[in-house]
Amino acid sequence: MINITLPDGTVKEYPKGTTAMQIAEGISSGLARNVLAAEIDGEVWDATRTINTDVSLKLLTWNDDNGKMAMWHSSAHLMAEALEALYPGIKLAIGPPIENGFYYDIDFGEYSFSSDHFPKVEKKMTELARQKNSFERIEIPKAEAVSYFRKKEDEYKLELLEGLEDGEITFYKQGEFTDLCRGPHIPHTGFIKAFKLLNTAGAYWRGDEKNKQLTRIYGISFPKNKELTAYLEMLEEAKKRDHRKLGKEMELFTFSQKVGQGLPLWLPKGAALRERLENFLKKAQVIAGYEPVITPHIASKDLYVCSGHYEKYGEDSFQPIKTPNEGEEFFLKPMNCPHHCEIYKSKPRSYKDLPVRYAEFGTVYRYEQSGELHGLTRVRAFTQDDAHLFVRPDQVQEEFEKVIDLVLYVFKALGFEDFTAQVSLRDKENRDKYIGSDTNWDLAENAIIDSADKKGLKTIIEYGEAAFYGPKLDFMVKDALGRSWQLGTIQVDYNLPERFELEYTGSDNKKHRPVMIHRAPFGSMERFVAVLLEHCGGNFPLWLTPDQVCILPISDKYMDYSKEVLNSLKISDIRAEIDDRSEKTGRKIRDAEVRKIPFMLIVGEREAAEGKVSVRRHGGEDLGSMSLEEFKTLTNKEITENIDEFVV
Ligand SMILES: [Zn+2]
Ligand SMILES: [Zn+2]
Repeated sequence: MINITLPDGTVKEYPKGTTAMQIAEGISSGLARNVLAAEIDGEVWDATRTINTDVSLKLLTWNDDNGKMAMWHSSAHLMAEALEALYPGIKLAIGPPIENGFYYDIDFGEYSFSSDHFPKVEKKMTELARQKNSFERIEIPKAEAVSYFRKKEDEYKLELLEGLEDGEITFYKQGEFTDLCRGPHIPHTGFIKAFKLLNTAGAYWRGDEKNKQLTRIYGISFPKNKELTAYLEMLEEAKKRDHRKLGKEMELFTFSQKVGQGLPLWLPKGAALRERLENFLKKAQVIAGYEPVITPHIASKDLYVCSGHYEKYGEDSFQPIKTPNEGEEFFLKPMNCPHHCEIYKSKPRSYKDLPVRYAEFGTVYRYEQSGELHGLTRVRAFTQDDAHLFVRPDQVQEEFEKVIDLVLYVFKALGFEDFTAQVSLRDKENRDKYIGSDTNWDLAENAIIDSADKKGLKTIIEYGEAAFYGPKLDFMVKDALGRSWQLGTIQVDYNLPERFELEYTGSDNKKHRPVMIHRAPFGSMERFVAVLLEHCGGNFPLWLTPDQVCILPISDKYMDYSKEVLNSLKISDIRAEIDDRSEKTGRKIRDAEVRKIPFMLIVGEREAAEGKVSVRRHGGEDLGSMSLEEFKTLTNKEITENIDEFVV
């Protein structure tokens, strides 16, 4: 008999050679139907693999990330099986699970393949899934594995085998299909109930352009049809909300090849929107005791040698700017922190001066490979809503709480309601790899956990995820489509104060090192606007949106009255414009809808005579006719509901 420890700590006896699936069946047949894999002493195994020693066991279902991975990996095998049946002689490279689904890279040889063939492949996959073929794990000597793939003339698998040794090679077989694979896999193909092939792309073998280009087929699968339908609907919606598409339609930003890849150009409406965001945060920061600073876009190489950034990123980023003077080198700034350290050093500091909080909307430049660039989310020039707090160790907790307040204020005003705080701490086993004293780390780690707790945040603690220079808290925000984004990082830093020899005089008259806290509630203006656009689908909160009101005169006769309305709104700081084109009102309404303008004021004979406006909301709701004063009260109310004053 062997002892199996379950997640709740109970230990049960089972006969040697039992499997996770048998254990699940012993608990309930309902559970067994959902078991995709198992975690055995922290390693993910097939649920059907025999267990011969005392272990701890966790059954994995669709609700566990590793359960999903096993499902998607098995789906890649199912797709490969279908493809091999339909296109005999194709060669298979690699087929892993990914964040959302799976892919397989395939050398189709003489066949031509495109997404037009997906229905045929899906049909075959359905047929094979219904056979409920079990995924069989086979340990195999290297020589046999090599001879198998030689016979198949699959040079890709043969190349993969070159890097493997006897004793670590396994095959997985389901139905007629065998693959070189580490696993783990789900019990049988019948668990794959709903799937869809999504798209194809070219992919070089081993990611190297010198190698042959293969066809990569992406797919996704789910245990239930309902989940697949919801996912496909989400994809459709995401396409509609793509910030690159909306940014163009709403005239917020653009790119120009002549200016350069990854260098966004903010158009007037986008620039004004960004300025409103900045002013909103600046106002709160003044209340929170931040002081603005401004630093140049380039700095001497010495600065980044001192900060350590040169050693870490120098070679892989933009190369130095030279001057006519021999040996003089400057860099575009990749971060604002070193500059702020030098500002801190510009005069002696006493313990009474702390905390010092420097804030700057600082534009930074980082080289990203052109293939990595994506709209506003991955760019080469971006502006951080950066600030650095220089605090005494005993102030870390209080300051951390204040920063959390500020981040929550931002989230509330912008409609992000679903988020978790991810706290990254040291690796418990390996404490030597971190800079800074144990006492300071303990203090900061506890301060972060306590502040998150005090603010009532949903918190996930990740051990071993801290940077070598300090623990941090990241806000993981779910958008309207359920996608997760990292926004608002608060990072404690013991490294830069050390490297820049920052000091303050303590009450004991001795020199001490301050602790530095980096924070950016938005992260960067570019990425934040992109995430916000996709979150709200272009329907920004009223206080932020580019045009709040569009006045639609039914005909030219009402232009004078429309202008009166416009002036009156402008005096009240409401952003409005007149659609003076000689188009039909229906057309004007449709266009204002596309531009996501929250209010349309329709103006005709009756409105002009009574001094009123007919109000239509974006989306079609008719609010009826009202006086301008009433309309202003309505918009004001909505704005104040969106955004209250920041209080400390
Ligand atoms: Zn595999
Ligand atoms: Zn920083």
